Amino acid sequence: MNVIFKSDRKEIRGLNGSSVSQYALPLLHIYGNISYNMNSANVSYEQHTSHNDDDTKYYVAATVNNSLYEYDEYAANDGILPPPDDIKILVHRYATSSSAPMFQQLLTLGGIGMPITAVSPPDILYGYGLSGGQFATDQLKETAYHEFAHASHFRITSYQLWLDNIDYIIHYGSYGDATDPGADRTDLIEMWGYFMGREYAHRRYGPTRHSSLIAFGFPDTATFLNSWYAWNENSGDYNSLFESNGHIAAGFLHDIIDDSTYNAAHNLNDNSAIRMDSIRGFTITSIFNQMGSSTTNAATLIEKLRSNIPIGIGNNIQNYDSLKFYYNY
Ligand SMILES: [Zn+2]
Repeated sequence: MNVIFKSDRKEIRGLNGSSVSQYALPLLHIYGNISYNMNSANVSYEQHTSHNDDDTKYYVAATVNNSLYEYDEYAANDGILPPPDDIKILVHRYATSSSAPMFQQLLTLGGIGMPITAVSPPDILYGYGLSGGQFATDQLKETAYHEFAHASHFRITSYQLWLDNIDYIIHYGSYGDATDPGADRTDLIEMWGYFMGREYAHRRYGPTRHSSLIAFGFPDTATFLNSWYAWNENSGDYNSLFESNGHIAAGFLHDIIDDSTYNAAHNLNDNSAIRMDSIRGFTITSIFNQMGSSTTNAATLIEKLRSNIPIGIGNNIQNYDSLKFYYNY
């Protein structure tokens, strides 16, 4: 039996060696020689962490594959667009980071003069040059959900925004500094990505089934206090309020949704830089709906949301402005 990581929904390729055919064809795992007909096969992949082993490639590809179908389900529940059909994903061992350049989509949908000649260029690059606990399923999936959130956003924003962001990332290397021209465009894209990755990882793994998260560095105690939800609530890069390079306010999106009363009841403290957060009741749909092509940076998104504050105790302009001030907006 062969397991082929390809359907109308997606195509997953795997790269852990120098053979060009690995890049050019969907991942194929020859699982065994089964001569009778099978209508419903269930193949499980155990966790492997050795970068060179094919077993690791299969494990990562299968985990990313499952993440896509889970993301589709959550996105449907939330009323947001899923990633586009026939999304091209490349899992590879040559980086610790992942990205969603959406190359194939830009090509097929008429992106402007893409200088790409490679066969079927990937939409999502998933780097698994990770170590140890980072191969935990929930951690792999959080990254996958993060990238799929970018792919959802891609569907409602402009090609130009995506191309400009690719240029920016290449020029400055990763997310650049707050003062680099275009940083607030990356802040928009990544505040959504970081927030959604953790939000959906929490939805999948809940308060106690997650692994020992890097941000908290706790031993093998999985509790609500070191859950993916808690990471969103503490926000930022290991509790510094902002993500990488100090200018991505991912926690803001969590803070306008969550209920501080609920958090306090669960002994969950906000990031110490947040002195008051009484805003709650925004939804993932209501945020996503403000992320169309006229929203080209984080400041614009935050202003648009300011004009759409849901009715509720404490949900007023003054409190909203206090919260956004903590995040330097
Ligand atoms: Zn991202």
